[in-house]
Amino acid sequence: MSKIIVTGGSGLVGKHLQEILPNAIYLSSKDCNLTDISEVKWLISSHCPDIVIHLAARVGGIQDNIKYPADYFDDNILINTNIVKVCKEYNVKRFIGILSTCIYPSIVENYPMNEEDLFTGPPPSSNFSYGYAKRCMAVQIDAYNKQFGTKYNYLIPCNVYGDYGNRHDESKMHFITALLNKIRNNQDNSLHLLGTGKPLRQFMYAGDLANIIKLVIDNNIIESFNVAPNFNYSIDEMAKIALEVTKKDYKIIYNKPYLDGQFRKDVSNKKLLKIFPNFKFTGLKEGLKQVYDKIS
Ligand code: NAP
Repeated sequence: MSKIIVTGGSGLVGKHLQEILPNAIYLSSKDCNLTDISEVKWLISSHCPDIVIHLAARVGGIQDNIKYPADYFDDNILINTNIVKVCKEYNVKRFIGILSTCIYPSIVENYPMNEEDLFTGPPPSSNFSYGYAKRCMAVQIDAYNKQFGTKYNYLIPCNVYGDYGNRHDESKMHFITALLNKIRNNQDNSLHLLGTGKPLRQFMYAGDLANIIKLVIDNNIIESFNVAPNFNYSIDEMAKIALEVTKKDYKIIYNKPYLDGQFRKDVSNKKLLKIFPNFKFTGLKEGLKQVYDKIS
């Protein structure tokens, strides 16, 4: 049996992966600080894994990205560069890195974006340094495969929500977790949201991403591709679906329209469905219900 280690194992995606891949070793920043290359060398040389699933990243909301762009750049560029380099140095056979659709250009000519669009323009200004740092892992992995013949790959998931979203630290909270939290803690029968509600966003249940990662390992897939469902709802549609699922009749009130961010950033899942034609994504209603039941 292959020995698998998972960086970022204590995070949202890592906890979902643990449910379906229980025999891997799940690591947090307390086990190894991946920004420090000597710790990464110690980690890989002591575990000698066959496969590394690399989920670890400094991840946060838009406001935190805007406030700490240097920290987002430094941490992510070091975490990714160190782990890929050291895995190659210690002959790790398979490496699966997780990127994010935030690394795509802020605007392209045609939507949804496909994998070839990745380097056609700069990432959005709101997460420019995070996006650029994470984008570099795609460059690094493609370069290693070309020069060293490694079989490393990366997945590019859209926004993720799940049963273990951070519900206590606002700077780390993702939209869906914040939305369901607001509905649950509501005291005045109104739901206050930032922006206009018009931007479109692709959201995926974290269990779906975990299933794709497991399928990639089980089927020894070495291609790199986007991971996102076909649906692309507006913020307003998602808020209405959340109210329907939670059976609440609150009035939605939008504040600070300038905080909308990009209008759309949906990616194509054509390549994914070519590799896994039978894969079915969890519907938004079903996923929201599952998460709300868990936090209520
Ligand atoms: P998360 O919940 O924020 O967890 C981040 C993980 O990274 C934690 O296990 C954390 O360990 C670890 N980590 C952070 N800094 C580290 C360091 N210096 N050394 C070692 N480990 C470190 O993240 P997530 O939402 O599960 O995301 C997993 C991956 O998916 C990330 O690469 C992210 O960019 C990508 N992604 C996420 C989303 C999303 O919406 N969540 C969307 C697209 C892509 P501690 O617990 O010890 O802090």
